[in-house]
Amino acid sequence: MQPSTAIPAVAIRDVTLNYFTPERETLALSNVSLDVAKGEFVAIVGSSGCGKSTLLTMVSGLLMPSRGSIEVDGIAVTAPSPRVGYMFQKDTLLDWRTILDNVLIGAELLGLDMARARKRAEALLARYGLGEFMHSLPNQLSGGMRQRAALARTLCCEPDLLLLDEPFSALDYQTRLALSDEIAAILSAESKTVVLVTHDIGEAISMADRVIVMSRRPGRIKSEHKISFPSFGDKRPTPFEARKCSEFSVYFQTIWDELDLHEVH
Ligand code: ADP
Repeated sequence: MQPSTAIPAVAIRDVTLNYFTPERETLALSNVSLDVAKGEFVAIVGSSGCGKSTLLTMVSGLLMPSRGSIEVDGIAVTAPSPRVGYMFQKDTLLDWRTILDNVLIGAELLGLDMARARKRAEALLARYGLGEFMHSLPNQLSGGMRQRAALARTLCCEPDLLLLDEPFSALDYQTRLALSDEIAAILSAESKTVVLVTHDIGEAISMADRVIVMSRRPGRIKSEHKISFPSFGDKRPTPFEARKCSEFSVYFQTIWDELDLHEVH
């Protein structure tokens, strides 16, 4: 969808982050500025250790910048907010709770109306093909199903902004491709603003409206690429369709060259 020109959903202003441990100080990010428009899907790519997760954690309100500021919907981020959903590489489902009860955790913690939350949770699980597994335990589900359940848990509290930290990287290649298609469809139907961090260039190009490339540590924004597939007109291709477009390989090559991945050891 076309992003609006109103207040950005996320405004990152000149953010620097130092980690301090007894042994050393690590400059993880340096002077990062980025706006994400409402309804936009932005992917941040960069090699391992460049500060992608650190940036996302700061947007979530779990970590404060050493310098600079972050706003979500025009309001300074000072703590985690229920309007922001955060999904990790590991699904972090609780093994002893059923899938439905896992999906309801956020609503429970936030003290939301549980009858309404339960209805929404059941609808989300049915929509994501997990209707029959609502009362199963997480260990009875495949990796892809567990990640869909984790997504349902994240969306159950109706966040406006979704932060995805390598949500597919623990999955095998086929599951990963299928799930990125499903998740892209879900997110576009829900008109969410999404920030995805990934080291997978193909995933970023095939899912996002814009790809931000970060330099190696200390992470800085090196470049950005607006992604478009003109043969699809205004319609957005699915990630699977996008991967087959000629533009995909051009973006891939350009971003690959910018990442200097051959220097990674
Ligand atoms: P990425 O997500 O791009 O792999 P991270 O944001 O996880 O990168 O880490 C960026 C840098 O900060 C890395 O060098 C990492 O070792 C360091 N780092 C991350 N978390 C901590 C921490 N809690 N304490 C100290 N250093 C950290």
